Amino acid sequence: MSETLTKELSEKIERVKAYLAQAFADAPGAADVCLTCSFQAEDVLLLKLAMELRPEIPTLFLDTGYHFAETYAYRDEITKAWGVKLKNLLPAKTVAEQESEFGILYQTAPDRCCGMRKVEPLFKAVAQYKVWITGLRREQAKTRAALEEVAPFTLPGGAQVLKLSPLADWTTKDVWYACRHYGIPLLPLYEKGYSSIGCEPCTSLPTDPNDPRSGRWAGNKAGHKVECGIHIEAAPAEP
Ligand code: SF4
Repeated sequence: MSETLTKELSEKIERVKAYLAQAFADAPGAADVCLTCSFQAEDVLLLKLAMELRPEIPTLFLDTGYHFAETYAYRDEITKAWGVKLKNLLPAKTVAEQESEFGILYQTAPDRCCGMRKVEPLFKAVAQYKVWITGLRREQAKTRAALEEVAPFTLPGGAQVLKLSPLADWTTKDVWYACRHYGIPLLPLYEKGYSSIGCEPCTSLPTDPNDPRSGRWAGNKAGHKVECGIHIEAAPAEP
């Protein structure tokens, strides 16, 4: 551990640890709780804290086939070094099959592309658990400003899972200092200036220094796409 923490950040970390301990106590089965991990800084920090309490926690990664080579390499390094129980979620179609059948959807219909490569496989996997832990933070985007730390989440088909976001009130600085404190190596793409990292075709350097997600779907501003769809609940079923 190399970074000295402020009292406030120490308290935040202890609060997250207590929060996770309670979540695991409430859902004691090894297969009750999953954690989604994009291998961005907040997710890796949360994974570290969760694994201290439950080393075998199923860790879901959305392998869209479109990630940066650096993301795949970093995923594999952390998984091996920490012994992560990684669940690599694959879409129904390979990239080649999708592009051959529908063309380059991330250019023509990114919502559909995210639907097939992220939303469908994630919801199918999350439905197997009672509790879903995420590294979401309110500060990340306006669309996340009202994020609750605990909220029921309705999946397509009506099943509910309890969605926990213990880093909801954390700032980007909190995450970086805590990662340094724990000596967590970060995805090298941050060193190139990226502040939010998803699929390579839909990720560019931030266009607004005050908006860390401004590089996501930056070429799709006409469509105002800011989320992939996995944090948006299914609409209630028609009566
Ligand atoms: S982020 Fe882009 S490439 Fe990735 S699934 Fe969504 S539209 Fe497709």
